Amino acid sequence: MSAQILDGTAFAAAVRAKVAEEVSARTAAGKQAPGLATVLVGENPASQAYVKSKQKACQQAGMLSFGYALPATASQQEVVDLVRSLNADPRVNGILVQLPLPAGLDEEGVLKEVSLEKDVDGFHPVNIGRLAQKGRDPLFVPCTPAGCMLLIQSVLPDLNGANAVVLGRSNIVGMPVALLLVRANATVTICHSRTKNLKDVCRSADVLVAAVGRTEMVRGDWVKPGAIVIDVGINRVMDASLPKGSRLVGDVAFDEAKEVAGWITPVPGGVGPMTIAMLMQNTLSAAKLTD
Ligand code: NDP
Repeated sequence: MSAQILDGTAFAAAVRAKVAEEVSARTAAGKQAPGLATVLVGENPASQAYVKSKQKACQQAGMLSFGYALPATASQQEVVDLVRSLNADPRVNGILVQLPLPAGLDEEGVLKEVSLEKDVDGFHPVNIGRLAQKGRDPLFVPCTPAGCMLLIQSVLPDLNGANAVVLGRSNIVGMPVALLLVRANATVTICHSRTKNLKDVCRSADVLVAAVGRTEMVRGDWVKPGAIVIDVGINRVMDASLPKGSRLVGDVAFDEAKEVAGWITPVPGGVGPMTIAMLMQNTLSAAKLTD
């Protein structure tokens, strides 16, 4: 039987429409529109494209967007100074420092400067620390992991005791997804490049999140029948049959996995659109903190 598709594009559109509605109600009530500042350091084309789409999403949600770009040669102090000035700017509710930063800059040193109340990416060490601690709550949860959870819990709201396997332990996806799954009372296994018997571990998962950045690594026989499969991977592969010459594929072999899984996210159109939707939601939440 073929899996049901978890349509991230549709979920994201619903989140963004709700955010836009709330923003419009706030501005109608005389409140300032929520503002998001983006900080782009260097000229990485992928980062430029991500920042542009985040700015466009702000406009579509009726939010203000303030774009700041520094050259790749910017010093740590220059980036920190910019972040500090945005912390002090009352028009700015959320600050997004686009990662990765160019080599030579200390990422944590920059992220820890972002005011906790404006940390809409959820990467401030204190917010991440709170995510990992029992009885503490972060002010913001990282966007891609939050989007994964929304998709998972649209199918399985109660994750109590579910076996979840997360492939990948990065700071921006794998680890925070795993922490969120633990908070939702799933029993979580985190896999990485040194994990043994990956296939068997994955096959035990009621919920399988793949965030490795390896084209179609998860095959159909890695998937437990009926599982929820969330594919975070975005990998570009050559395809001479397309005018562009390439296409995006995930970390999961979709055609194989969909024959076994209960639910599965496509790439593109799965987790990807959720990231920006959750950023808009976090920026609105940041604005509400100032009420
Ligand atoms: P990283 O490269 O930072 O982390 C990859 C993780 O996968 C690491 O923990 C690594 O293990 C593990 N890994 C790599 N190869 C293997 C392997 N052969 N077997 C088992 N584990 C392995 O990647 P990110 O977390 O930043 O991104 C992962 C994917 O998600 C990428 O394709 C990226 O483009 C995509 N992405 C998508 C987003 C979206 O909005 N949809 C947002 C962010 C990322 P180890 O720690 O041991 O090195």
